Amino acid sequence: MSCDAYQEMVSVYIDYELDDESARTLFGHLSACAGCRQFLQKSLHFRTVASLLPDPGVPPSLDRRALAIPHATPKKGRSFIAAFWRRWRERIAVPLPAAALAITLLLLSTAVAILRTAGPGQAATPEPRVVYVMQLSPIEVHPNPSQ
Ligand SMILES: [Zn+2]
Repeated sequence: MSCDAYQEMVSVYIDYELDDESARTLFGHLSACAGCRQFLQKSLHFRTVASLLPDPGVPPSLDRRALAIPHATPKKGRSFIAAFWRRWRERIAVPLPAAALAITLLLLSTAVAILRTAGPGQAATPEPRVVYVMQLSPIEVHPNPSQ
């Protein structure tokens, strides 16, 4: 995990929203990373200073205007499929040329993988191996002459 990810965890931690397991992971990293420790100290300092500032207050006219904004309500009569395609276009869809290129590359790599495994080069005879054989000369063993 990168220091950026740990510093994101620091932000969640000082908002009291980090679970225990993640906090253990975070403090394990903080024990070894001076940069992230410094980020934690600065974040805590900023939080303290911000809490000491006076409440800026909101002008009553802004409250009235904000309350006058109608809530967004989902339009009725839309089918699930229409909502799916709308979500697809807004969040997931990639440009058509990029999708076509990705599919072409996938098909080409699959074809190359199939040709490599089924090609004629794989059926060739195995390379000859060199085997060394040692033979010891026979040794005659005589009974002990002193007996
Ligand atoms: Zn770090």
